[in-house]
Amino acid sequence: MQARLLKNYVGGSWQVSAAAEHLDVINPATAETLARVPLSPPGEVDQAARVAAAAFEDWRHVPATERIQYLFKLKTLMEARLDDLSRSITLENGKTLGEAKGEMRRAIENVEVACGIPILMQGDVSEDIAAGIDELMIRQPVGVAAIVAPFNFPGMIPFWFLPYAVATGNTVIVKPSERCPITMQIAFELFEEVGFPPGVLNLVNGGADTVNAILDHPVIQAVSFVGSTPVARHIYARGAANGKRVQAQGGAKNPIVILPDADLDMTTRIVADSAFGNAGQRCLAASLAITVGEAQGPFIDALAEAASSRVVGSGLDEQVTMGPVISAASKARIQGLIQTGLAEGAELIVDGREASIPGYEKGYFLRPTILEVANPDSTLARTEVFGPVLGLLHVDTVDQAIALVNRGAYGNMACLFTGSGAAARKFRSEAMVGNIGINIGVAAPMAFFPFSGWKDSFFGTLHGQSRHAVEFYTQTKVIVERWPKEWSRTF
Ligand code: NAD
Repeated sequence: MQARLLKNYVGGSWQVSAAAEHLDVINPATAETLARVPLSPPGEVDQAARVAAAAFEDWRHVPATERIQYLFKLKTLMEARLDDLSRSITLENGKTLGEAKGEMRRAIENVEVACGIPILMQGDVSEDIAAGIDELMIRQPVGVAAIVAPFNFPGMIPFWFLPYAVATGNTVIVKPSERCPITMQIAFELFEEVGFPPGVLNLVNGGADTVNAILDHPVIQAVSFVGSTPVARHIYARGAANGKRVQAQGGAKNPIVILPDADLDMTTRIVADSAFGNAGQRCLAASLAITVGEAQGPFIDALAEAASSRVVGSGLDEQVTMGPVISAASKARIQGLIQTGLAEGAELIVDGREASIPGYEKGYFLRPTILEVANPDSTLARTEVFGPVLGLLHVDTVDQAIALVNRGAYGNMACLFTGSGAAARKFRSEAMVGNIGINIGVAAPMAFFPFSGWKDSFFGTLHGQSRHAVEFYTQTKVIVERWPKEWSRTF
């Protein structure tokens, strides 16, 4: 049977791309082809940008109170279709259905927060800055905004941006990951059902060339990106060189520090979930566990036990707690990194390099792996693995642990497990990362907080979600007005 061909959605209608090239979208649990995605050529980005620019002229003048009515309706539809959206995520990405539902809940939460736009985008007024003169600042939308997304949260990540962009009066082009583009097809069916005016929300599928056409397009004013660090750096540089505002969230290598007074059971469960949930393919996955002092012995044993008991298999199976990784290439890359780690002196505690799941022999499965990473400068200690692999390091003091956290190139997240308020306070003050967890393993900010990556995990100034997104998608206009007293008349 011919695989379904995914379409673009431009100017309120579904369109077959004229792309010369297409990619197979593969179910990572079965290696079956789910669909074919077009690598849309620059001309189709141009068409979407022009349609979005035309729609912007009306949409920006729709009162914010009316724009959010579309979002209220969208939230209801997303909840009604939660099971379809989640199943689609599991099929194309591999994560468990529970993880996929959690992902969509976060997407919905962003729609809810953006419903507060009438107050979130309010301006400021100062009366009488001089005699008879007032000054005001208003926020206006920037125009056409593009969203470029990664494979690991195909349902949620576009929603870190999209609800805020449209609620503030911008029009949008979404470019989903070419590896997981199916869930956005469902999202766009919902946008159509909501009845957004044509051109307000557009979908253009594609790969690197499509993204570069976005970065070079003169009409597109803002680019929101989430993906790996090398691509984030490229997006930021090329977008900025073309005069756009850009927010580019990149990769990560998240350390988790465990003090001897941490609660053994809770910490073990949470750290294992962080490292192996979503098969380690979260930008907030624990990648290095740094035990301090006497924490070393008990936690190594407990984490090894938690890793070994993880149930690996198809994300559709209810008993399963860890699905496959995204592709054969990704599996081979992760195995290669483990091999490099061993060659550089790491020691295997739990070996998950091979996994054959009955009934799913062609799937891209790994099991959780834990290694003692002897050297903090080794490849495994510094490189984002993006797979179910946890490296262990050991130090003697909290200061040494914080120093280790801070010498990493990334700054997405760092967590501390402890019963000590003083240690927690020191950690949250001194760790050079943008998202901190204290007795939390995945410190994912709620929609009303910014997703605050630092260092090589983020390029830009304003992050996704919350007030940051509102500021990113609006430009401030300051107006100084003089109305001399002598002009006042009484009618
Ligand atoms: P990726 O960088 O390969 O792809 C992301 C997007 O960029 C895709 O839409 C892709 O089409 C496009 N792209 C890829 N190469 C390009 C190029 N050379 N030029 C222009 N565009 C290009 O990322 P991925 O593998 O899909 O996602 C995983 C990465 O995303 C991990 O590094 C992970 O840490 C990161 N991530 C970060 C966050 C965060 O909030 N910081 C969240 C989720 C994922």
